Amino acid sequence: MVEVQTSSSPAPSDVAHVSILGATGSVGVNTLDVIERHEAKFSVTALTANNNIDLLFDQCLKFHPEVAVVANEDLVDQFSAKFNGSSYKPDIHSGNQGLELAASLSEVDFVMAAIVGAAGLPATLAAARAGKRTLLANKEALVMSGSLLINAARSHAAELLPIDSEHNAVFQCLSGSNECDVERIILTASGGPFLKLPLDEFAAVTPEQAVAHPNWEMGKKISVDSATMMNKGLEIIEACMLFEKNADEIEVVIHPQSIIHSLVAYVDGSLIAHLAYPDMRVPIAHALAWPQRIQSGIGTIDLAKLGPLEFHAPDRNRFPCLQLAYQALEAGGSAAIILNAANEVAVASFLHSEIRFTEIPQVIDQALQHIAHENVLELETILAKDQETRTYTRAYIEQSVRPS
Ligand code: NDP
Repeated sequence: MVEVQTSSSPAPSDVAHVSILGATGSVGVNTLDVIERHEAKFSVTALTANNNIDLLFDQCLKFHPEVAVVANEDLVDQFSAKFNGSSYKPDIHSGNQGLELAASLSEVDFVMAAIVGAAGLPATLAAARAGKRTLLANKEALVMSGSLLINAARSHAAELLPIDSEHNAVFQCLSGSNECDVERIILTASGGPFLKLPLDEFAAVTPEQAVAHPNWEMGKKISVDSATMMNKGLEIIEACMLFEKNADEIEVVIHPQSIIHSLVAYVDGSLIAHLAYPDMRVPIAHALAWPQRIQSGIGTIDLAKLGPLEFHAPDRNRFPCLQLAYQALEAGGSAAIILNAANEVAVASFLHSEIRFTEIPQVIDQALQHIAHENVLELETILAKDQETRTYTRAYIEQSVRPS
């Protein structure tokens, strides 16, 4: 497992200064909810948004960060004007530079990396390079950058703590164990909204149906990823990197109730599981307080009232994106970057009703087959491969998939 360093944490009695990248998203809002419950322990130093400047403004008035960043440069003047006549105004920044600044401010202790997609990579990397405790929700950043982000965290003594509920669960199940005693990691998956949908109805799935996850309230992109199970595919790659495992040491089990968030199997036959109601405030509170515990706002499960828990193997025919993620892992090199970028473009096209749900894996497969998988290890070359894939994928959708 990636060694977790402790030098970036403030002493338990100190107030931890937090920067939230993607404050206006689902994870960002849940993070502020937890922080609000513990005003004596956490102070909000920086908040960032992309387009939702109304919510960012409300968050600023409530939490008074020193710095606010609007990534979308076209909206920064409009955002700034909202503070006219107010006695409080944060330092306002924009663009990627602003995001990286929010991630690396000297007074910040913890950075919540909760921007969605590849857009979050430079700022997440900046947080690790600045030695911050980096709370990693932005799985795409890790999937595309691989060892670059892990090594940056290591060499700058930054704690990299997983926020994804599955990886946070694994992190907790591994606590206190010897690495050599771990047999395998078992990631649970709800199976999303289409677990039982007849296969011949998949092509007619609408964006509204795909974002309606049965158990979790999440942003649109990750909700579609859950429906295709690409989310689990990205999580397999994430788990391999975070816990230094091979693909064959990571098992996926469908568990529709989303009560067990993941498990670790040990050589002596023990399975250690993490159980909680499906609410992101649980892993967020864990990572904010680690190695201590704080209240998240969610009670523990009432076992006597819990119905049956089911488990079964995933059907890779039903969910071809899962298979594509395994293929990308096996191919190595930049295949994970291509997988991620093609998926982001395909999901955005699906959400705009430009392609069908069933065309998402076809588009990703096309990109994986036609774009060269060379080894890319630097941020610039990773971003260039990401751009190359986006350009290719958009052109492919325009020419070959999009209905005329
Ligand atoms: P949302 O879509 O709800 O929020 C995304 C956030 O990123 C928003 O603050 C958005 O700003 C910002 N953002 C979007 N594009 C850009 C950009 N180009 N530059 C800067 N900021 C941008 O996503 P989620 O909160 O659901 O997910 C965030 C991350 O966490 C994802 O990587 C996801 O996979 C991961 N995750 C999410 C979980 C969940 O329960 N939601 C669970 C586990 C992991 P704005 O809204 O202002 O436009």
